[in-house]
Amino acid sequence: MHVETDIKLGFKNVMIRPKRSTLKSRSQVSLERTYTFRNSQRTWTGVPIIAANMDTVGTFEAATVMAEHKMLTAIHKHYSVDEWQAFLSTSDSSVLPYIMVSTGTSDADYDKLKAITALNDGLEFVCIDVANGYSEHFVEFVRRVRREFPSLTIMAGNVVTGEMTEELLLSGADIVKVGIGPGSVCTTRVKTGVGYPQVSATIECADAAHGLNGHVVSDGGCTCPGDVSKAFGAGADFVMLGGMLAGHDESGGELVEDDGKQYRLFYGMSSDTAMNKYHGGVANYRASEGKTVRVPYRGPLVATLADIQGGVRSTCTYVGAAALKELSKRTTFIRVEEQENQVFG
Ligand code: 5GP
Repeated sequence: MHVETDIKLGFKNVMIRPKRSTLKSRSQVSLERTYTFRNSQRTWTGVPIIAANMDTVGTFEAATVMAEHKMLTAIHKHYSVDEWQAFLSTSDSSVLPYIMVSTGTSDADYDKLKAITALNDGLEFVCIDVANGYSEHFVEFVRRVRREFPSLTIMAGNVVTGEMTEELLLSGADIVKVGIGPGSVCTTRVKTGVGYPQVSATIECADAAHGLNGHVVSDGGCTCPGDVSKAFGAGADFVMLGGMLAGHDESGGELVEDDGKQYRLFYGMSSDTAMNKYHGGVANYRASEGKTVRVPYRGPLVATLADIQGGVRSTCTYVGAAALKELSKRTTFIRVEEQENQVFG
């Protein structure tokens, strides 16, 4: 039995140490990044935050708002080809560089991906994700998509270790999706005992990816703008958000009222709720690995996006990073046993 004894860190285990800075104001900090992807050879510029491909988050409505802020949306995979066609025909072409087509790994998923990408050659990104990115079948699917679509930028996952990050990049992925178990509505760690604290996973996978000119997205576990900064500080090229972007006007999930307060339903994509909705129930060989919760209704997405951007800009000024690009180089994490003062709740 081999036990790794060095401690792996999550967002709650670290803070970013402030550093001397010459920056006068957070308004000076640019959050835009420009990346060239190793396999697609495409170049992309934008603010590298991605709305998760959950049907309560990665909606067409959210994508329109995210794109106005030069942020990405991984559109969830349950829209039909007809719905895609309707969206693309009514959207401005400026939205295209900021949307990702999500797909699963079945033959039917593959055919649907072909049909959607055939609708508009301005579509640049595909998100191929499964709960367990370690399976051979998954890697083979990534290879197949790479062969068929040489110029699509492929984001693939989820994994949490350097060797599998390398394997996916060498199999055709451009951006590796990092995260097993940190999500706000994820129960994988409870159901299976499998997982990896997200800050360490991000540091280790980013290190492996950057050695191959690849990129990573830190997916899951961010609960506040400070966590988004920590993910970038850990070396993430992109950060994917689910719960932080749920509960808005543009989100999916049924609106419910309780005691005069409004909520929106939010659930994991492998929760009972999602499986009942899309697969007519939970298959008897598997347990659901997601929860269903309700989040307070939060109004328009723009206010939340401004809050996140403000937080990350402020982090940059604390460490003297004039641009997001410099944040990870200027980040020193300190291990902590406390976060915020909770005396007033
Ligand atoms: P959050 O930002 O809400 O903490 O995490 C969002 C991420 O949780 C998603 O991008 C996805 O990787 C993950 N996720 C979404 N639904 C489920 C689910 O049902 N089960 C598990 N294990 N993870 C999920």
